Amino acid sequence: MSEQKTSTKLIHNQSGGRLLATVNPPIERGSTLLMKDRAALYRDKPSYGRMGLAVHRELESALSDLEGGVRAHLTPNGLSACTLAIASCVKAGDHILVTDSVYGPTRRFCTERLNAMGVTATFFDPDIGAHIESLLEDNTRAIFVESPGSLTFELSDLPAISAAAKPRSISVIADNTWGAGIFYRPLELGADISVQALTKYAVGHADAFGGAIISGDKRHASNVGICAEQWGISLAPDDAYMALRGLRTMAARLTVHQTNAFEIAEWLQSQDYVKRVLHPALNSHPQHSLWQRDFSGACGLFSIVLEEMPDDALDLFLDGLELFGFGFSWGGYESLINPADGHFTRSLGEWANNDRPGRLVRLHIGLEDVDDLKRDLQAGFDRLKNHLST
Ligand SMILES: *Cc1c(COP(=O)(O)O)cnc(C)c1O
Repeated sequence: MSEQKTSTKLIHNQSGGRLLATVNPPIERGSTLLMKDRAALYRDKPSYGRMGLAVHRELESALSDLEGGVRAHLTPNGLSACTLAIASCVKAGDHILVTDSVYGPTRRFCTERLNAMGVTATFFDPDIGAHIESLLEDNTRAIFVESPGSLTFELSDLPAISAAAKPRSISVIADNTWGAGIFYRPLELGADISVQALTKYAVGHADAFGGAIISGDKRHASNVGICAEQWGISLAPDDAYMALRGLRTMAARLTVHQTNAFEIAEWLQSQDYVKRVLHPALNSHPQHSLWQRDFSGACGLFSIVLEEMPDDALDLFLDGLELFGFGFSWGGYESLINPADGHFTRSLGEWANNDRPGRLVRLHIGLEDVDDLKRDLQAGFDRLKNHLST
């Protein structure tokens, strides 16, 4: 062949990118996959980057192993994992049941988008247990559980709910972001699908999004897969890599999150202005025995109810903190604190044990030194004391 022109050489002068044996899989950035020959184009799979590449396969198998499922499907973020999992179980005319302490955006999907698709949603008290039976309709196709709810930390009795759903082949979906597959294993407790926002503990550094749907059997996995393909849901290879990288250290990080958060939760119980600490691993949690039965640990996320106080006092407490950031999401290495009171919806009215009047504040305890975190909070309580006693 004659000497190639520059534009041709820029495209075709490739060495083939031979790989060395690095610890981690390479990030293949690819939409087009070059197939072996003409026949392979319509025969071999995967045939397109959207179906996932090496790093996706690794992440999927690590996650389905972690949760004890048959297959994991990846989504661009946690919310799309929740919505796709639900959508894969329903069609127009169906009904679903959703925990009343569900993550807000999942709630809005159920009340607005699902309704537009002809599916109705009813919310249930997270503590309903076997009484969920009384809410089952002939057209109920799915039950969505999130245990604990990530603001009020109410638990649900997943085995009891699943036992009511099973005889009618109703699919049970559990949002397992809090338990992360380390502290909670929904598929073993009767759920058909477990979903996780990988954005939280899997990624672990607040620098990427990701979601996963782990199915407990082939039928659910197949429905999720079809739905993902038809809607065009996929996870970018760089984000999949970040989640896989984070997953390698997740168990170790969670041990520290768990220890630090429990120590701070216990300590907070004896502080002035703290009415209640909403942490399932504390004896004082109203569903502590359920946590003991079904969970093997607790992550870094919990809430407290402070005594009722004016906004300026709460601001003085929060704004002066040096080690706690204000920000949505959680699961990164850093500590966060968010006032949550009045920023969430319940369909069934107040949540039980709400300790109202009071101010709900959610904390994520990061990997900082626990004594430093306590000192920071202590200074906040001191500011409150000076302010409220004068
Ligand atoms: C954050 C979160 C989600 C959504 O995850 P994103 O990646 O932010 O979309 C879903 N469920 C729970 C319980 C969460 O905390």
